[in-house]
Amino acid sequence: MGTPYAWLEKALATIHRADWYRSLRPIEGKPGPVVQRDGRAVINFASNDYLGLAADPRLAAAAIAAIHDYGTGSTGSRLLSGHRPLHRQLEAAIATLKQTDDALVFSSGYLANLGTITALVGQRDLIMADQYNHSSLKQGARLSGATVIDYGHNDTAALQHHLNHHRQHHRRCLILTDSVFSMDGDICPLPALLDLAATYDSMVMIDEAHGTGVLGPRGAGVVDHFGCTGAPLIQMGTLSKALGSLGGYVAGSASLIDFLRNRAASWIYTTGLTPADTAAALAALDIVAAEPERRQQLWRNVDYLKQRLGQQVVDGPEAGVGMQLLPSDSPILCLTVPDAATAVALAAELQTHGCYVSAVRPPTAPTSRLRLTVMASHALPQLEHLVQALSHCWLQH
Ligand SMILES: *Cc1c(COP(=O)(O)O)cnc(C)c1O
Repeated sequence: MGTPYAWLEKALATIHRADWYRSLRPIEGKPGPVVQRDGRAVINFASNDYLGLAADPRLAAAAIAAIHDYGTGSTGSRLLSGHRPLHRQLEAAIATLKQTDDALVFSSGYLANLGTITALVGQRDLIMADQYNHSSLKQGARLSGATVIDYGHNDTAALQHHLNHHRQHHRRCLILTDSVFSMDGDICPLPALLDLAATYDSMVMIDEAHGTGVLGPRGAGVVDHFGCTGAPLIQMGTLSKALGSLGGYVAGSASLIDFLRNRAASWIYTTGLTPADTAAALAALDIVAAEPERRQQLWRNVDYLKQRLGQQVVDGPEAGVGMQLLPSDSPILCLTVPDAATAVALAAELQTHGCYVSAVRPPTAPTSRLRLTVMASHALPQLEHLVQALSHCWLQH
């Protein structure tokens, strides 16, 4: 007779059979373009540290100073004992970058999405969600109890069709989308989404996790990229990617932020962000504003790698049939491969050639792919090394 937990072994066996099994591999040392993994130095194409700030000595110094001044833990929720002047400074800096009235900092981006979506909509309401949205948007939508309709990826005609059919039967409507799609690298058609939102009396919430610090003339994200600053929007993002720290945020109107402080359970009932994380993020925002050359270097690297991947790996003289570069407008470049086993085998092979690349498989993305992320801190020879390793491994596999 089995125990009530015997099903766990069976479930794991099923995951293994599908080549969907995931395991942890430690990275040693500081983050950067080269990291230590499995005892060897590898060029890192798997990090979200787009501007190379996670190991910046200025962030570290700010975090250490904050620990000296305020200690390691925030000791309580923001509404009780956990609110520090640093939190307000960080929220003001985010509002300045986003050019919104105000902002609210959460303990993570995931919690920002769960708390915000569940506060804004409920059973009488409607959510329109891009089918490729991040897990945190999907889970927030489900948790809210609203009617959720997924529209085809970036398909505004499909979105309009669904709005036509369903909008009138619900109280509020919230359109939810990633700004940069995290497992594809393309960006949402924000101006068209805003037009539809105006026509159908709907709110729009955009997840700038991979946009902030990266896109737009000021590095304020896809909203900045499209010149939509000031539009009636709920902008969410994370402090943990280009900003090199930890935590999430929502930026928007004064009434939105005031409402969330009163209604977002994942903000009210959790401990305030640590002083160290708060100070590091604040230092990162200063750097994003003061050093646009980091963003320029990042885009030079993205353009170079995209062009070389196209020439050498996808359309080269010995082109790999079946490997495709997905359309991207960001530092996230994805090469599709035929199946999950191939993705895992190629990533392992690339590691032996000194490149750390992630194999992304279902259910994280609908199809298997190698996902490469470019950083401002990559040097051209490192990008070229990847191109050579990729074409070699693809021809051998
Ligand atoms: C990483 C990510 C999140 C979650 O942010 P964390 O701060 O890591 O919890 C949310 N949305 C998207 C699109 C992401 O890529």
